[in-house]
Amino acid sequence: MSMNTQGRPTGTGTASAAATGSSLLPNEPLLFEIGDTEHSGVDLPDVAVSGDFLGGFERKSPLSLAGLTEPEAMRHYVRLSRLNYSIDSGMYPLGSCTMKHNPRLNEKMARLPGFADIHPLQPVSTVKGALELMSELAHWLMTLTNTAAVCLTPKAGAHGEMAGMMAIRAAHQATRQNHRNVVLVPESAHGTNPATAAFLGYTVKAIPARTDGTVDVEAVKAALGSDIAAIMLTNPNTCGLFEPDIIDIAKAVHDAGAYFYCDGANFNAIMGVVRPGDLGIDAMHINLHKTFSTPHGGGGPGAGPVVLSEALAPFAPVPFVRDGELVEHPEGTHLGRVTAFNGQMGMYVRALTYMLSHGGDGLAQAAKDAVLNANYVKARLGDVFSVPFAEAGFCMHEALFDDSFLEGSGVTTLDFAKALIDEGYHPMTMYFPLVVHGAMLIEPTESESRQTLDHFCETMLDLAADAKAGNAERFTAAPTRAPRRRLDETRAARQPKLKWEAPQPLPQAAE
Ligand SMILES: *Cc1c(COP(=O)(O)O)cnc(C)c1O
Repeated sequence: MSMNTQGRPTGTGTASAAATGSSLLPNEPLLFEIGDTEHSGVDLPDVAVSGDFLGGFERKSPLSLAGLTEPEAMRHYVRLSRLNYSIDSGMYPLGSCTMKHNPRLNEKMARLPGFADIHPLQPVSTVKGALELMSELAHWLMTLTNTAAVCLTPKAGAHGEMAGMMAIRAAHQATRQNHRNVVLVPESAHGTNPATAAFLGYTVKAIPARTDGTVDVEAVKAALGSDIAAIMLTNPNTCGLFEPDIIDIAKAVHDAGAYFYCDGANFNAIMGVVRPGDLGIDAMHINLHKTFSTPHGGGGPGAGPVVLSEALAPFAPVPFVRDGELVEHPEGTHLGRVTAFNGQMGMYVRALTYMLSHGGDGLAQAAKDAVLNANYVKARLGDVFSVPFAEAGFCMHEALFDDSFLEGSGVTTLDFAKALIDEGYHPMTMYFPLVVHGAMLIEPTESESRQTLDHFCETMLDLAADAKAGNAERFTAAPTRAPRRRLDETRAARQPKLKWEAPQPLPQAAE
């Protein structure tokens, strides 16, 4: 055993192995395992304290923080970051998530001190520039969607859904329609839609999909009645298809006295091309982190502004920006806050930078390129991979496949996704939408070049050929080249270990 400069023993197992310097270990120990609580990473002079300054509240036990030097802490995080797959290290074909490139220009703007360093409790008169930026972002969002109002504050798509549905509920309450307690949700919906409706106390009624993967307009009409508060529909839908009857659906919903909530997570397919307000929607969240290229994933920050139609504008949650001013106490019946302060400023800066650097025509081009790329993948894989709803022809921004081509191979969608990790790719979205058995949902986004798409498609075709040739082992054993093998994902979700417990010292042998 050797001693490091602070007299700490090193080289006694995995924990301290990282502290001694190997950056090739796949098992990165926790900070608490690298450092110990007895030492500090900095040399502080002993302080001569006499008397009781804290009125008896001084700490009685050690703080129990790992005492690391700056390089030790830095290396820990850099090593961890290398275990991560990211859009900056490779293609990220995760359907419904729009993992597009985050232009570095966005980052540069977000770091301008005038935006990065403001404090939410600063006097409003000192943050006029930030308010102007929020006002301009609001203008772009309302223009792109042709809607009357926008609440910027929700911190994720699901949060925007909640804010929008709360506005719908408030609008019904204002007209004494409290008995409307049912929300219609198509079977193909993202899980957040029924969860939002249920969270707000609504009963969820499922609308079946037609055999072509789109919402059955007749089923919607049949379900409408005086108890329906709203429909929550995604367009383009989660099967990657544009809902052809959306205008008829909107009309039927309005005729029945209900509102039309649109899940806007797939706006990347139509931004600058279709304005959802023209289709008759009343509320729609926009995932800035998906459509407008602000970094997301792994619990990172999101921003889910919700746009509202003329009918719902009077019920927008506060605060909102109107004519360049922050409105916190509007006249009328507005909802209260859905977040503390004003939302994710850094994401606003990034999203507006993306909009301004593209312009309206550039955004439309990005949407069209995203659709083109998805159709390229669909065309290249479509002969080998099974395509549900093939009669729909072209897809929008994501290509949907299912696992029927794997039948009899002993390989499942999950195995296939794990094998993709060994090929250096993040897996596609699996088993979603739920209406498709063994779904594989691929969203290449507009960021990827023809070469990247070709390499990805060739990898997918190679895997498919191997699965069909009976080489199930390559799949069921995968991943073998990742830092971790197969994980017990169910147990990880059900029994997460969120707190590090110090190992108990071994009992001393009796003298
Ligand atoms: C991502 C997504 C959501 C939820 O958005 P978050 O920002 O993750 O909360 C809702 N619906 C669809 C279709 C999505 O893809």
